[in-house]
Amino acid sequence: MKVFAQLDDTIRLNEEESLLLDSVRTLAREKIAPRAEGHDRDGSFPWDNVSDINALGLNAMFIPEAYGGAGLSYCVYLACVREISKACASTGVIWATNFHAMKPVIDLGSEALRRKFLPRMTEGALASLCITEPNAGSDATGMQTRFTPDGDAIVVSGGKTFITNGGASDFYLVFGKWSEIDDPRGAITALIIEKDTPGFSATTPEDKMGLRASSTSGLVFDDCRVPMENLLGKPGDGLPILLASLNKSRPSVAAHALGIARAAFEDGVAYINQRSQSGRRIVEFQGIQFMLADMATDLAMCENWLWHVGRLVDGGAEDFGVEASMLKMRASDLAMRIATDAVQFHGGYGYIKEYRVERLMRDAKVTQIWEGTNQVHRQLIGRSFLEK
Ligand SMILES: Cc1cc2nc3c(=O)[nH]c(=O)nc-3n(C[C@H](O)[C@H](O)[C@H](O)COP(=O)(O)OP(=O)(O)OC[C@H]3O[C@@H](n4cnc5c(N)ncnc54)[C@H](O)[C@@H]3O)c2cc1C
Repeated sequence: MKVFAQLDDTIRLNEEESLLLDSVRTLAREKIAPRAEGHDRDGSFPWDNVSDINALGLNAMFIPEAYGGAGLSYCVYLACVREISKACASTGVIWATNFHAMKPVIDLGSEALRRKFLPRMTEGALASLCITEPNAGSDATGMQTRFTPDGDAIVVSGGKTFITNGGASDFYLVFGKWSEIDDPRGAITALIIEKDTPGFSATTPEDKMGLRASSTSGLVFDDCRVPMENLLGKPGDGLPILLASLNKSRPSVAAHALGIARAAFEDGVAYINQRSQSGRRIVEFQGIQFMLADMATDLAMCENWLWHVGRLVDGGAEDFGVEASMLKMRASDLAMRIATDAVQFHGGYGYIKEYRVERLMRDAKVTQIWEGTNQVHRQLIGRSFLEK
C-alpha cells in the first residue's frame, strides 16, 4: 500500500494536527473498529464511540479558539472523518454530522448565537442538520415546515424526515419557511432547536440497510416555541446559508465514503493475497489484477481530489461548489464500486456477515443518495458549463 501511504503524507498538517490524527488512528484501530460489527448487528447507537471521541475532545478541532475549540484545518478534519469512517461508517457520520450542523453557525452565526451553542459543542454535544421533509427531498425548496414569529419567540410547526443523529442530538439546525415572507425560496430561514424544547420530538429511528448503528429519524415540531435569539442570520437568509453549508458538508461526506472505500480496498487486497484456487493465489489471476488496477488508480485520484478541495477551503476559497459536487459524486460512486468489487474478490465469503466487506457494501450505498443524490450532482456539474 506504499502508493496510499505516500499520498497520505501529502496532506498538509502542522505538528499539532499530525499528532491529533495519530491519536484518532489509534482510537479508530483499537476501539472503534472492533466494536463496529456488534453495533451493526444490534443496530445500537455507539455511545461508547461517541464517549471515546469526546474524551479526545474531537469536536474542538473545528470550533474556533474563541469558543473553547482549537480551530484546526479543514484538511485534518477531513482526514479524521476518513479514519473514523474506515473503522465504523456509522460512527464516522455521527461525528461528521456535528460539523455539518455547526459549521454554518461558525461561519455565519451572530456572536450571541456562537456564544450560546459553540462552547457546548466543544464539550461534546451532538448536533443534526435538518433539511429533508417527506415531500421535499432533492428539491429542498419545497419544504413546508413553518416558522411564525410571535413576540420574542418563533413558533415552529411541521416535521422533518431522515435526520441523522435524530433523537440523539442536543441541537438541531432546522430549515423552514418564514410565515411573513411570501416567496417559496426567499422565505427559507434557519434556526436552532434544543432537544428539550416543548413540542419537539423525534420519531422511532428507521430500520436501515446500512449505517445501522447511526440513528436516522423523523422530527416532529408541534408548535415548538423557540427563542428569537436562536435564528441563524435573518428571516429569509436560509437558502444561501443552506447552499454554503452543503458546500462544506459535501467534501466531508466524500471523506466518509472514501473511508469506506479504503476499508473495502484493504480487505479485498488482503483476501486475494491469501486465498488460492487452481494452485495460484487469487491476486495472480490477470482478470483480478485488472479490477485491482482500476480500483487502486481511481481511489488514488479521488483521494488526491479530496485533499485538493480541502486545501481550497483552508485557503479561504468561497466558490468551490462544483469541485465539492465532483468530489461527493465520484467518491460515493467509487465507494459503492470498490465495496461491491471487494465482495466479489471474496467470492461466496463476501456475502457472509463474518467478513467486513458485507457491511461495507451496505454502508456504501447511502453515500450515493444523501447530501444531494448523484443524479442531482451530475446536473449541478453539467449545468456549471452552460454559457450565459
Ligand atoms: C440514512 C440517511 C440519512 C440522511 N440524513 C439526513 C440528514 O441528516 N439531514 C437531512 O436533511 N436529510 C438527510 N437525509 C435525506 C437525504 O438527503 C435525501 O434522502 C436525499 O436528498 C434524496 O431525497 P429523497 O429521499 O426525497 O429522494 P427524491 O428526491 O424523491 O429522489 C428520488 C429519485 O429521483 C431522482 N431525482 C430527483 N430529482 C431529480 C432530478 N432533478 N433529476 C434527476 N433525478 C432526480 C433522485 O436522484 C432519486 O434517484 C438522509 C437520508 C438517508 C437515507
